[in-house]
Amino acid sequence: MNEIERRRTFAIISHPDAGKTTLTEKFLLFGGQIQVAGAVKNNKIRKTATSDWMDIEKQRGISVSTSVMEFDYLPDGMSGEPYKVNILDTPGHQDFAEDTYRTLTAVDSAIIVIDAARGVQAQTRKLMEVCRMRNTPVIIFINKMDREGRDPFDLLDELEKELKIHVVPLSWPIGEGMHFQGVYNIFEHQLNLFTPDKQRVTQKVSVDIKSGDLEKHVGERGAEQLREDLELIEGVYPEFDEKSYRSAETAPVFFGSALNNFGVQELLDCFVQIAPCPGATKAEERIVVPQEPKFTGFIFKITANIDPNHRSCIAFCKICSGKFVRNTPYWHVRLGKTVRFSSPAQFMAQRKSTVDEAWPGDIVGLPDNGIFKIGDTLTEGENLHFKGLPSFSPLLFKYIENNDPMKSKQFHKGIEQLMDEGVAQLFISQFNNRRIIGTVGQLQFEVIQYRLEHEYNAKCRWDPIHLYKACWIESDDAAELDDFKKRKYQYMAKDREGRDVFLADSSYMLNMAEQDFKHIRFHFTSEF
Ligand code: GDP
Repeated sequence: MNEIERRRTFAIISHPDAGKTTLTEKFLLFGGQIQVAGAVKNNKIRKTATSDWMDIEKQRGISVSTSVMEFDYLPDGMSGEPYKVNILDTPGHQDFAEDTYRTLTAVDSAIIVIDAARGVQAQTRKLMEVCRMRNTPVIIFINKMDREGRDPFDLLDELEKELKIHVVPLSWPIGEGMHFQGVYNIFEHQLNLFTPDKQRVTQKVSVDIKSGDLEKHVGERGAEQLREDLELIEGVYPEFDEKSYRSAETAPVFFGSALNNFGVQELLDCFVQIAPCPGATKAEERIVVPQEPKFTGFIFKITANIDPNHRSCIAFCKICSGKFVRNTPYWHVRLGKTVRFSSPAQFMAQRKSTVDEAWPGDIVGLPDNGIFKIGDTLTEGENLHFKGLPSFSPLLFKYIENNDPMKSKQFHKGIEQLMDEGVAQLFISQFNNRRIIGTVGQLQFEVIQYRLEHEYNAKCRWDPIHLYKACWIESDDAAELDDFKKRKYQYMAKDREGRDVFLADSSYMLNMAEQDFKHIRFHFTSEF
């Protein structure tokens, strides 16, 4: 395998508490990156009533080092060059969901973790939408089978209905909760028996499910049920087909228990074999393929340094083509100048080290003293602009005001830089010229206020504004668009790129606008 073919760059995503952190940790265990479970700290911010921003700061220190976790992995029984697995971490807290959406622009596939008892939850739905927008192939892991859950067929139905994707079970549970006996691995035709164990790898047994051997392992009832279920699966679900998975039409489903390390290795083994390697990336100018000899990459995430005395950040660059080499001058397209990195970093589970070269699919951390914005492109000289870093309509909106007239410069600089980092979205009202900050959660406002104060020595105040959604608008009918903007001037704003945004204050108002202006298209994401 060459350097590109052996890479698997993906994210594990879930509704909070479904088991993303636990599963990630078990993957690292198999990857030899950690020796015992519990070594990876949860970068999740606990949802206490009064979330303390200092806590977040401390916890962010952890999330910086675990932003990307990479390891080599070769499934048992396979020989040759190992796969290179790059797991991109995403924040555990819903208020930072936007960060997760952006991370999804840098992956080639995703694993979605579902809680067997809870099924599809709000955040799962939203994350799947983002995957669908980009045609990202997904594998679904139904977790917590050791607990009383729901009927597996019902769960599959729910997945198809709620996530709008066809599913293909590749493993099947035998019993659940108290009676959970294990899974039958449809992909490998093996029976994996369950023994609750938090650290060791589970035992696999090869049995012919048609033979009486099955009864010996799972008892009369278990065997009968499994045979019945498998028959039904065969009749109802299509056979697994790599092509339809990779084109994001079907999602393979696995069952297991991350906490008990059950079903995890099967998932990882299958994943490295079927998941896509780095593919083409769309730029405004053309499509870039990873095999191109020249280096290209884009910044999808910026993490601020938690030490306020060092205002430097780390910009995470996804390599799209060619080879990244340390100390080489690269072209920063937006700034129109050459930049060079003497200490680019790569990340292991618990440490960070300097990287000399990196390949498509890899993520390198570039020290950033304010030269990067999310979405920036680096090349060897070509003026390319990678697409695909959408903004979504925020859910919460507030006016932001400078509370210390003496510090106006710091205030404005702080807002600019925080927005470059993607902390939240900024809109300028065309009506009163005031700044409106849009977020997905209350915590983002706290982060902005805290960081303005501690990093920029500026004070801000929030004023309420009642808004429902931000819609990016466009129309082929210029006259109608103009008329709309005039009539709704109180609700019009510009985003940071100068695009027109309609700030609807209720769903009723939005519906009316859609009815009255037939040729205007209202988008809830900035990419259309
Ligand atoms: P995240 O928010 O998605 O990262 O979820 P975590 O990995 O932090 O898991 C949330 C909770 O579920 C933790 O208390 C885990 O110990 C627990 N958990 C994770 N996997 C399992 C499982 O397979 N079985 C059971 N019973 N609990 C689990």
